[in-house]
Amino acid sequence: MEKIILSKLSKDELVDYIVSNNEKKYRAEQIFSWIWAKNAKSFDDMTDVKKEFRAFLNENCLITDCKIKQRQISNDGTIKYLIEFKDGCVAETVLMRFDNRANLSMCVSSQVGCKMGCIFCATGKNGFKRNLLPYEIVSQILLCQMDTDLKITNVVFMGQGEPLDNFENVTRAIELINKNLQISIRRMTLSTSGIVPKIYELAKNNLVPTLAISLHAPNHQIRKEIMPVEKRYDINSLQRALIDFSNQTKDRVTIEYILIGGLNDTDKCAGELIEFLKDIKCNINLIPYNEVEGLSDFKKPDKKSSMRFKYLLEKSGKKVTIRLERGADIDAACGQLAGKVK
Ligand code: SF4
Repeated sequence: MEKIILSKLSKDELVDYIVSNNEKKYRAEQIFSWIWAKNAKSFDDMTDVKKEFRAFLNENCLITDCKIKQRQISNDGTIKYLIEFKDGCVAETVLMRFDNRANLSMCVSSQVGCKMGCIFCATGKNGFKRNLLPYEIVSQILLCQMDTDLKITNVVFMGQGEPLDNFENVTRAIELINKNLQISIRRMTLSTSGIVPKIYELAKNNLVPTLAISLHAPNHQIRKEIMPVEKRYDINSLQRALIDFSNQTKDRVTIEYILIGGLNDTDKCAGELIEFLKDIKCNINLIPYNEVEGLSDFKKPDKKSSMRFKYLLEKSGKKVTIRLERGADIDAACGQLAGKVK
């Protein structure tokens, strides 16, 4: 008989299941708390649940059927996990720790592979396998919590996959993360390459995370060269969707912009980007390109041109940061670990 996966269930669903198996409601609450708040690794850890019922759980249920297949720990404390799902597919998830902040941020994957084919991305190059289910997304956080005994405080949908291409499952995962893991929606960020109709839809959701846009180019020509999504939803329609999103949600969006040496880091590009962003309430995150062997001929920008690009954007009144390189010694750029294991 197929075992019941408890990390699939909301609190009400868990209560219904436990009560229908002749236990009291408070027992369901104990189990819920062990899974979602106390990082229980197995039912035997649930010491205040009576032995006979633990035996029932062992026989009929699993917390999750996802497993940690590989773990790499960087010198800067970043931990990258390769998670294996029941059907043998794998995806990456990364725990980021910052010396100067109490935040523990988890970067989760939403798909195995990705259809979007951005040419600077190892995941895009390897193609698409399947969407992850809500509990497979949430299990990435649960497994990391079990492994480290830490409590994750922030979640970013920036791992493998395009989250808005798996809209229903990601929306349900956001709900589970919020209700079961008690992580505020203000501490969740969803990053998209720009699936325009889904940006309008997301703005109308009950739970709306901070939106990050992988823009990476200031105009149609450069963007279509590096991001095939531009051919379907061009930069002008994306601009309208972003203005609508920040008007509806009253939130700033984050603009992610990979600086590629000589391609999109010139003064002309900075000028076009300033024009593109002038009516969009946003912060800008510049990401110096990380050269990946065998992926493309793109070059890392030099430090001076990155600083100048930042300065030009700041002069236009925007808040700009340059993202610190994290986990560089453990292949923590998108898609690299899964690529190697494959
Ligand atoms: S950058 Fe993101 S959207 Fe683009 S191919 Fe990679 S995983 Fe997909």
